[in-house]
Amino acid sequence: MSATLFPQHIIARKRDGHALTREEIASFVRGATDGSWADYQLSALLMAIVLRGMNADEVAAYTEAMMRSGVVADLNSVKAPKADKHSTGGVGDKISLHLAPMVAACGVAVPMISGRGLGHTGGTLDKLESIPGFRVNLSLAEYRTELEQIGLSLIGQTAELAPADKKLYALRDVTATVESIPLICGSILAKKLAEGIDVLVLDVKFGRGAFMKEKAKARELAEALVSVAKTMGKPTRAVMTAMDQPLGRAVGNALEVIESIECLRGEGPADTMEVTYALGEQMLLLANVAKDAREARTQLENSVKSGEALKKFGEMIAAQGGDARVVDDVNRLPRARLTEPFVAVRGGFVTDVDAMGVALAALRLGAGRARAEDRIDHAVGINELVKIGERVANGAPLGVIHANDEAALADAKDMLAKAIAVGDERRERARLIDEVIG
Ligand code: URA
Repeated sequence: MSATLFPQHIIARKRDGHALTREEIASFVRGATDGSWADYQLSALLMAIVLRGMNADEVAAYTEAMMRSGVVADLNSVKAPKADKHSTGGVGDKISLHLAPMVAACGVAVPMISGRGLGHTGGTLDKLESIPGFRVNLSLAEYRTELEQIGLSLIGQTAELAPADKKLYALRDVTATVESIPLICGSILAKKLAEGIDVLVLDVKFGRGAFMKEKAKARELAEALVSVAKTMGKPTRAVMTAMDQPLGRAVGNALEVIESIECLRGEGPADTMEVTYALGEQMLLLANVAKDAREARTQLENSVKSGEALKKFGEMIAAQGGDARVVDDVNRLPRARLTEPFVAVRGGFVTDVDAMGVALAALRLGAGRARAEDRIDHAVGINELVKIGERVANGAPLGVIHANDEAALADAKDMLAKAIAVGDERRERARLIDEVIG
């Protein structure tokens, strides 16, 4: 290590507000990967970055170093254009499950490496694992073969992909250094760009149930993600979407798989399909398989109408060891022991369904995890949820709770009573698709 690359010198330079060089950034990321920097040095530089920020060149150098800290999947053998979608996370966001087979049915391969749920947001891997036998831990060779043969693969992070992020994310989580746009950009894009994609669409959410609550902050993140990904040669667009009430009517792992199957049957909730089509259109446009949004939309609608997208979903489940019969018989998914509706205590219009309140009720039922090592219960959650603006009669159900424990059911009922409001005035829900960036 040259004298100028001593961790303490690099930390001091960022502490004093200087831009770091590519070599300094590479030393930091290498230090996280091979252990040559101590955790306290990594943490000190993370905090200096939170406080001092990074310019565009630094963020690009950081993202590239993070991506190259491990293997970058080689998908040259997959002949179709390759597009992925990443969501910054929301409540009831099951879109990846049905969007990936819809896009694959339109001739665009979808290599999708997803995460597990932590805190109030669910994770695609947890939802998929509610399908009996489904394996998310494929090797990179199996992932490539599935993409060649079926055109989609939904798997978990492997140890070979962006290992520096695994180390740095764990440190950020316990040192109050998650909230930094440069660090978030590096973390998200390193993993996505290591998947072997050609183009990327981001669903950047804002609102009470989102990771970034303020629209202005979410927009800043969206612009930074799009600009860094483009600098790295990957055409990328971000769709800004509202996350104030849950997406769709189901929150909970198996319940969300059922709702995704409904989407693939053409029976999905209007809000979920609106976001699905908005994201799918951008994927087809960036992949150059549609000339405009209208043509992209028609192709996506046809993938559902023809049954091709549902067929792809079944093929993907079978290829990953799961019971593909769930596609025709959702009773094969895990079911909770107790199901109980919770009802309106007055008639009127639904004026609020607080995404965070619903998520916390689902967490109490066991649908999510408070800590990374917690086990989750795939069967529990809430479905048949009302939406803002709907009319309800006194005593009518506002949703149905699925529980495996009486005490959790009682607590969830209280929590949902606080999360959902009914009033006299009909309130229109906020616009769901705010803006497309890039
Ligand atoms: N999600 C990620 O993968 N990384 C971050 O830094 C924040 C959200």
